[in-house]
Amino acid sequence: MGEAVPWLDDLIRVIPDYPSAGIVFRDITPLLGSPAAFGRAIDDLVARFHDVPVDRVVGIESRGFILAAPVAYRLRAGFVPVRKAGKLPWAVAREEYALEYGTDKLEIHRDAIHPDERVLIVDDVLATGGTAAATARLVETLGGQVVGLGFMLELADLGGRAKVGERRIESLTSF
Ligand code: AMP
Repeated sequence: MGEAVPWLDDLIRVIPDYPSAGIVFRDITPLLGSPAAFGRAIDDLVARFHDVPVDRVVGIESRGFILAAPVAYRLRAGFVPVRKAGKLPWAVAREEYALEYGTDKLEIHRDAIHPDERVLIVDDVLATGGTAAATARLVETLGGQVVGLGFMLELADLGGRAKVGERRIESLTSF
């Protein structure tokens, strides 16, 4: 689990009742906009997985792309987008997952990951874990091995870790 990290926590803006009443939104744009902090956050995320070989880094639409792409570059791994349904132009695998109200769908290109490739999944926030768990299932459907999931921050009370199961999770900070 992530520990309190003052330099990071100070750059994550807390916005009550966004996008709807009762949601406390964690806005990472101040972190992204800080030259020193953005680089350090990427470096720290990469360092958390220094002990595992990674062939592909999966970013989850859309804030996950911002973080996963530089992580992939640093690891000299490929970058793979997981997108909301209907956005990817070629043959896809699809996973439906539960939201607080209703369901949503995520897709990945069928040729984006090959059997036995080692895959790191990256997103900004681990909340209830539904998005991350669906992404892990997509990777595993294609035969990939999820070596870990990396997040800037984790909302520990929402129980995302349990939903993600036994897979390894690293988050830089938690609230
Ligand atoms: P979940 O499936 O509940 O773990 O939600 C994770 C996804 O929703 C991530 O892609 C986050 O970007 C976004 N998200 C969920 N809750 C929040 C929150 N409180 N603040 C910012 N982003 C959130």
